[in-house]
Amino acid sequence: MIYSLDDLIMLSALQHFVYCERQCALIHVEQAWSENVFTAEGRIMHEKVDTAKYESRKNVRIEYGVPMRSLRLGLIGKADVVEFHRTDDGTWLPFPVEYKRGKSKADNCDRVQLCAQAICLEEMLDVEIREGTLFYGQTRRREDVVFDRELRMETEDVAEKVHELIVAGITPKPEYSKKCERCSLLELCMPKTCVRARSVRNYLLTAMEQE
Ligand code: SF4
Repeated sequence: MIYSLDDLIMLSALQHFVYCERQCALIHVEQAWSENVFTAEGRIMHEKVDTAKYESRKNVRIEYGVPMRSLRLGLIGKADVVEFHRTDDGTWLPFPVEYKRGKSKADNCDRVQLCAQAICLEEMLDVEIREGTLFYGQTRRREDVVFDRELRMETEDVAEKVHELIVAGITPKPEYSKKCERCSLLELCMPKTCVRARSVRNYLLTAMEQE
């Protein structure tokens, strides 16, 4: 499937979706946004990266804030950094680098976002990109990510589901978990309150059934 320019969605929505489907809908369907200490740190990190334009070393050229899109996945966005590595035959191979605050996560949200960037670059530049890197501010560590078949399939699947979510325009109900404590939308989402409200409702329904 090829998406039209009007139907492109933000590449970052994939990361939000894998982290929490409700968070994705709140941001990309309801246009809600709230900054907390985690997103503020992340934004400052991205802004620092954004101020530079490019650097060049012997066999590496580094481009900052690179715009990108994929009509096949219906995505548009910007990569923090794309390194171009000169190969033995003299061609320059793109290598996406994404800056994140915090540390490597158990779920694949950051890896899916990076893979989506690679797919955009592949489509735009007609190349094959095998790997990229996530750089985590808290641990100051790079995590190399291989864009294997499994990660590509997951990324394509997530892109399709995010399109469906945005077209449907229905925000999923909250489910409280540990990750909510780090979520910038915690106050707006109120997952504990909703869970409690559901519990009360369930209690009343059960009580009525027993009557
Ligand atoms: S608070 Fe929890 S349930 Fe609500 S959007 Fe954030 S992660 Fe999702």
